[in-house]
Amino acid sequence: MKILIAEDDPISRRVLEANLLEWGYEVMVASDGGEAWEIIQQPESPNLIISDWMMPRMDGLALCREIRNMEKSEYIYFIILTAKGEKKDIIEGLEAGADDFLTKPFNPEELKYRIRIGERIINLERRILELANTDPLTGLLNRRAFLERMEQEMSRAQREKKPLSLILADIDHFKSVNDTYGHQIGDLVLQRFVGQLTTSTRPYDFLGRYGGEEFVVCLPGGDGLQAASVSERIRRQVEDMEIMLPDDSRSIRITASFGTASNSIESGKNIDLLIKRADDALYLAKDKGRNCVCSSCA
Ligand SMILES: [Mg+2]
Repeated sequence: MKILIAEDDPISRRVLEANLLEWGYEVMVASDGGEAWEIIQQPESPNLIISDWMMPRMDGLALCREIRNMEKSEYIYFIILTAKGEKKDIIEGLEAGADDFLTKPFNPEELKYRIRIGERIINLERRILELANTDPLTGLLNRRAFLERMEQEMSRAQREKKPLSLILADIDHFKSVNDTYGHQIGDLVLQRFVGQLTTSTRPYDFLGRYGGEEFVVCLPGGDGLQAASVSERIRRQVEDMEIMLPDDSRSIRITASFGTASNSIESGKNIDLLIKRADDALYLAKDKGRNCVCSSCA
């Protein structure tokens, strides 16, 4: 785990850093609150901070308040380590949003176990987030988490003036699979379909389960042509896929229909509109007889 030290005193900083490295942590250092604040805003920044109180530019409490006000999906565990140790100081620190408060000179063993508490909380929070965001059957993002991620990607696409495309995919006549073979086989079919979607997309594309047998793929940087060709490739692979039934010599074949839509600079970051266009295209694909790809031309 990565820990950020915010401390203006070079000697204290070095002592603390040596301890953390000895305990096996990866360490980043900032010599004042302002520098720490810049680090925290970078991607992949540490989730645990040990911060001094009195520092130039931005003090530890101001840093903590800024962090509590920021929009970041992961929790940041904040420990204040300071020479100030009166009751009123501790209360002020906790009031600013700190999780823990230690006074200098610190006892290394105590600090070590207090960091462990922070680690436990960070890991619990990650686990809860993962459970809340994932569809248990397929391991994909659920609808809500997918839309949240879309929100970020749409903003980024708009900022960087890059295309972004969406594919809605729906397994044809899925109800009859469930009716004929039962729900367990239905689940197996969903998992195999998702396996195919995953292998046919790039690592930075992301997928979600949009509804029962409806899935959604976002292609950041992908334009309408790419979305159509990726969809067509998946469609063919799904058509060729043979799903063997467990304890049975029979196998099932399925097909799927696809609707695609792409953003445009003019359309801005209207997610609902983009999804609606992909959905309309999917409806058209179903209407045309299924097992095909239709693209929204708006
Ligand atoms: Mg200081």
